[in-house]
Amino acid sequence: MTITADVIVVGLGAHGSSAACHLARRGLKVIGFDTLHPPHTFGSSHGGGRIIRQAYSEGPFYVPLMLRTYELWEDLQDRTGKEVMRITGGLSIGDSRGKGTAGIRESAAKFDLPIETLTPNEIHERFPVLHPNEHMEATFDPRGGALFPETAVQAHLDEAIKAGADLRFDEPVIRWRPDREGGSVQVETKSGTFEAKQLVFTAGAWLPELVSKLKLPMWIERQVLFWFEPRANADAFLPENMGNHGWEYEPGHSFYAQPNYGEGVKVALHHDGRSSNPDTLDRVVTAEDESALREQMERYVPDLNGKLLSSSVCMYTNTPDRHFLIDHHPGHKNILLISPCSGHGFKFSAVMGEIVADMVTEGRSKFDLSEFGVERLLTEESQAACPPERRPYTVT
Ligand SMILES: Cc1cc2nc3c(=O)[nH]c(=O)nc-3n(C[C@H](O)[C@H](O)[C@H](O)COP(=O)(O)OP(=O)(O)OC[C@H]3O[C@@H](n4cnc5c(N)ncnc54)[C@H](O)[C@@H]3O)c2cc1C
Repeated sequence: MTITADVIVVGLGAHGSSAACHLARRGLKVIGFDTLHPPHTFGSSHGGGRIIRQAYSEGPFYVPLMLRTYELWEDLQDRTGKEVMRITGGLSIGDSRGKGTAGIRESAAKFDLPIETLTPNEIHERFPVLHPNEHMEATFDPRGGALFPETAVQAHLDEAIKAGADLRFDEPVIRWRPDREGGSVQVETKSGTFEAKQLVFTAGAWLPELVSKLKLPMWIERQVLFWFEPRANADAFLPENMGNHGWEYEPGHSFYAQPNYGEGVKVALHHDGRSSNPDTLDRVVTAEDESALREQMERYVPDLNGKLLSSSVCMYTNTPDRHFLIDHHPGHKNILLISPCSGHGFKFSAVMGEIVADMVTEGRSKFDLSEFGVERLLTEESQAACPPERRPYTVT
């Protein structure tokens, strides 16, 4: 027997839970599937906190999406009464002539966003536990803060179900097939065949495999998260005293820390992880993982370099230019490919649901998504940027 719907969502993590929620609120008949039961610890959306920041270093074209995503996180909090986001202010610290600092300034100037620039002395005076070097400067974003990913994913799932979505957990999509005329798509799971007019892939690290014929030049990067007990001045790391601080300590090499929200201070390197396969990801945290991070903490935030409380392994799904993929499938206009990651996509998951709902119901988004198209990933240059040995799947 084939069960029909208006739209099927494959993957119900950060972006899929939000997509299911917004699609169901539009009155569409939505069926969503997930291999597991989000929120879980096997994808990209776990680990207690995700940074949100407004003056976006990655490009001013993110800012309109960013302004809307803040509104939608607030709306989700109001509707559910759950703390999904906490604004603490946040610091981005790096070389004053570096790309990151320039990107923040560009976004702030273009959209008239408030930021404050601090010299190394000013950083240390205001936050005595931070020890920048003389070439660094900080931009303080007063709207920086944290999202709580497990709470946020659960809130979107609850809202999707409330709006009528049929969500099926522990039920992976095994196969999918478009019909020749492009009027519908079928998916197969262990419980049967499901058919919908449109299909949305929000499968995170498993997306490249699900659309393997496209040979998307995307790769999965292992990332390790740590929680530390500061060895001194523990109060300085509480959210009321200091928000996030991200450090670009060398061009292209960064680490970041979030305040202690109760589990210890979360710290991690950003990128610099091994290429991995999501199904065989190495989840054992090694002494080398820890020492690489401790080296940077000792240099820039020595009071933080205390007892290790816990750790966890997570995955980035990267594109060569580190921008998102938000587009229709190049061969099927009724299929959406949604992969906002490269290590900075969580904050956009609230707006991503609205974007998906617009693309499904109106064929287009009100935002300019031209930087996030699939065609750029299919060029020879992009393909070369991700050699086959880095890909999680060898496509034959
Ligand atoms: C360590 C770490 C730190 C990060 N820090 C930040 C940050 O500070 N700020 C920020 O904005 N972003 C951050 N990110 C990025 C952000 O977390 C990700 O962009 C986001 O979580 C990706 O969400 P997703 O929905 O694409 O994937 P996921 O949430 O992993 O969801 C994908 C889902 O698809 C399911 N699935 C897969 N295959 C199938 C199938 N065949 N059938 C059915 N279901 C399937 C999986 O089970 C999974 O539940 C970070 C990421 C990591 C790993």
